[in-house]
Amino acid sequence: MIFQSHTPGSEPISEILTAIIWLLVMVVTLILVYKKKLIQIASIIILTIVFIVTGIIFGAQPNPVLPFQNLIMRIEMGETLLLILRSFNITAILLLTTFFFGRIFCGYACALGAIQELMSKFQFKSNLKDQKNKKTIYLNPKIAFYIRIGYFIIFIISGIVWGLAVVQYLNVFEGFKIIKNPGFPIVGIPAILIGIIIITSIFIYRPWCRLFCPFGALADFTSRVSLFKLRRTDACNDCGLCEKICPTQEAERDSLKGECYLCNRCVEICPQNAIEMKRK
Ligand code: SF4
Ligand code: SF4
Repeated sequence: MIFQSHTPGSEPISEILTAIIWLLVMVVTLILVYKKKLIQIASIIILTIVFIVTGIIFGAQPNPVLPFQNLIMRIEMGETLLLILRSFNITAILLLTTFFFGRIFCGYACALGAIQELMSKFQFKSNLKDQKNKKTIYLNPKIAFYIRIGYFIIFIISGIVWGLAVVQYLNVFEGFKIIKNPGFPIVGIPAILIGIIIITSIFIYRPWCRLFCPFGALADFTSRVSLFKLRRTDACNDCGLCEKICPTQEAERDSLKGECYLCNRCVEICPQNAIEMKRK
């Protein structure tokens, strides 16, 4: 298995296909973002394909939280440090993409990220006229940051103290297995949690990503130092529209973009066409 997921319901062929889809989606989306051609319909098509194929059909195996789960499993099995660290090959690759291009994986290639982004489009619009009167809840970035760090610590400590049996419930990606393995006992609770996340993400932008995801916690830090990010050009006249439309408060001129999911709302709303993906 290319990612050593070693979990029931995971097959090498679906892992390989998922990896290919991740790569293709990231490349295509980056090109569209770079050329400022990521129109709404294109992002809806990409996100829908990712959710249905990698999430529903392949059961989200592998997924970005799996390495943390495998870490606990390998510790339980008493494996060597080298093998334990091998759990994180998938994390290392995904963080490398984040180091270069920010949260491109989270934005478009992750199955759970994709469905949250799709649902967000109901209430988080790309222009202020449509956004008016929408019922949305904006998370305080600092509080969200600390909640996610807390969940990260709980995830690891629960794994060390109670083992894989508990950690499997904390990784909601396990719930995607319910379509392929409805009788598999541990998927029920994570599947219910996925349902709650999907409904909540209509009103709160990406609640799982911003409040809980262990990979998201690492990707936040990596994205802050990413080489390429959405930046304002000299054409910006500080009208502030991008800051008003951004669902994560990351559109400020000096924002590090740790929580920028490349949703493209700021690019679409900018009347000066002054936001583009570039190096500093
Ligand atoms: S933060 Fe986690 S759940 Fe959200 S898109 Fe990134 S990897 Fe997926
Ligand atoms: S800065 Fe905000 S609006 Fe712009 S792409 Fe990032 S998350 Fe979306």
